[in-house]
Amino acid sequence: MGTVQAPPASVTLANGESRVVEATYSNGYECPWCFYPVRADESACANPACDTWLSVDGIAARRADQAKRAEAAEAAERLRRFDAAQRERAAERDLNLWRELSARAEEGGQCVKCLRRSYWRSAPKFVKHRPGTVCPNDRR
Ligand SMILES: [Zn+2]
Ligand SMILES: [Zn+2]
Repeated sequence: MGTVQAPPASVTLANGESRVVEATYSNGYECPWCFYPVRADESACANPACDTWLSVDGIAARRADQAKRAEAAEAAERLRRFDAAQRERAAERDLNLWRELSARAEEGGQCVKCLRRSYWRSAPKFVKHRPGTVCPNDRR
């Protein structure tokens, strides 16, 4: 049993980047690079994926990779937002068109059910049923 070592004030990477140790425990501290708990009697962070294990080149490569991933994720997010906006606009156009067509059918005494069943987006069908006849779309 050795004496309990005080946690370091900061942890420095191979490339000279340094972070202050912000969290300490009774027997250790939290690695400021990977947030993995480090025992006070360990000389370095035990997490093999931690930046503290990387060489200068290794750090540069990891940062470049992270930047590339972040960029790709951002591009995907931009595309997703664009798609959602497009869909929203299309749905709005659709709704407006339907409102316009159904209002026209109602005004003209034409059947809204038959209009709905037609290809109203491209070829709206305005049908007027003879008095006393039943709309064929009503029977379904
Ligand atoms: Zn670490
Ligand atoms: Zn009808």
